[in-house]
Amino acid sequence: MKTCWQNYIDGTWIDGGAGWIDVINPGTGEKLAEQALANEGDVDRAVMAAHRVHQSGALSGLRPVVRGRMVQAMGRYLLDHIDELAKVLTLEQGKPLWEARIEVEGAARYFEYYGNQAETVEGRSIPLGKDYFDFTTYEPFGVSAQIIPWNYPVEMTARSLSAALATGNTCVIKTPELTPLSNAWFAQASEAVGFPKGAVNILCGLGHQAGAALSAHPHVNQIVFTGSVPTGIAIATAAAQNVVPCVLELGGKSAAIVHKDADLEAFENDVRWGIYFNAGEVCSAMSRVIVHDSVHDELFDRMVGVAQSLAVKPGIDQPEFGPTMGAMVSEGQRDRAAQMVSDAQAQGAIVATGGRKMNIPGAFLEPTILTGVTPDMTIANEEVFGPVLSVLKFSTDEEAIKIANGTPYGLVGGVFTSKLDRATRAAQRLRAGQVFVNEWYAGGVETPFGGYGKSGYGREKGREALWNYVQTKNVAIKLRN
Ligand code: NAD
Repeated sequence: MKTCWQNYIDGTWIDGGAGWIDVINPGTGEKLAEQALANEGDVDRAVMAAHRVHQSGALSGLRPVVRGRMVQAMGRYLLDHIDELAKVLTLEQGKPLWEARIEVEGAARYFEYYGNQAETVEGRSIPLGKDYFDFTTYEPFGVSAQIIPWNYPVEMTARSLSAALATGNTCVIKTPELTPLSNAWFAQASEAVGFPKGAVNILCGLGHQAGAALSAHPHVNQIVFTGSVPTGIAIATAAAQNVVPCVLELGGKSAAIVHKDADLEAFENDVRWGIYFNAGEVCSAMSRVIVHDSVHDELFDRMVGVAQSLAVKPGIDQPEFGPTMGAMVSEGQRDRAAQMVSDAQAQGAIVATGGRKMNIPGAFLEPTILTGVTPDMTIANEEVFGPVLSVLKFSTDEEAIKIANGTPYGLVGGVFTSKLDRATRAAQRLRAGQVFVNEWYAGGVETPFGGYGKSGYGREKGREALWNYVQTKNVAIKLRN
């Protein structure tokens, strides 16, 4: 594997003005490679290149079907390179190799979906009587800045890049410091499918330096950010200074309500995926289970069984789909999660299983279940972003909803029951951008996703996300005789 990785600015691979950063393999704790860091000047060059391409009309002026085919071809490029890309993703991020392959396939799916829709972004005509002809069109904003988190670096970039390109925007991507390497394939893909030089720029840099410079750049016209609440606030503040829109996707503390009439055996699968996929480093993770008193003990035994069935080891040693989990992204994130478990214990929660750092090199935390959690505890309110599930109890439907809605977040929620009325009423009342009934992570690239409350605003995924990347123009024509 290459040891030094560069930034891709205006169609050229370059070092950056801010030195280099070590990229660590969290599966071993060893150095994997070095990534060049962009500084403010590099960010400026990338934004100005994207601005120039936008002004030229080389992208926005293409017939949408042509642009859409290029977007789709980017997805196929990722699939053609899945073996090498998934391996690098696993080595830098820690996830099992089979999960990395799923991530690359998911990324390709975004390019397929939005590439397909490029030619469906149609305006409408508005009747104003016989003396006028009036219509709307949707135009790209121009330069889309996209600041990417480390948990799904490939899928998160694919999600915003595909929609932005399909609608004719040019892009500057700021990759995460912990997992910058896998984003190189987007630069290669954009070149391979023939996007003009400067249409897609991929750079890494420190958040407070390159990230801040990008979000405050006067030629950035729209911003997409996924990450923590404090950074989201900083980015929205910078965007406000330039009066540009942003989409913020800021994580959550999402809850599954499990009623006594739920299929408890089937719920084991929801626990497996909901909190242990990607070692729980998922913004929409099922980090709380709120279970009815009467089935608590049975469900608890089942959940502990799931946690204990998972083999935890370096992602690269997990090529095949199965009951396995990888490392967290870094020792820092692992230690933060372990500390949150200790703090929860100090507040009265009980560690039913896991909770400890593993005694092997790398950023490993045991799959963890905390019971006896009450809504007032810190662990019930703050995002761990790791493989840590908090279990709370309820006795009435009203109480379950109140607990579920009791955090400042509102990304997703789940309700598990065999009663349609109960599920529908819960779906109406849960304060969340997406509600899963009887399957955590039901939905797909087609379904809109985003937060209520501190989980952010704007929507990614689905047809709805396209409207984040375009602005409406109305043309009113007075007809003369
Ligand atoms: P972060 O929000 O600090 O970083 C995310 C991205 O923002 C990175 O690319 C970073 O370089 C950039 N950034 C940081 N400061 C910036 C600034 N001032 N201006 C512009 N860009 C900036 O997140 P983190 O430190 O990597 O993780 C901290 C916590 O964030 C996690 O523990 C987790 O709770 C949350 N998180 C959530 C998601 C999600 O999917 N919602 C993803 C990653 C992290």
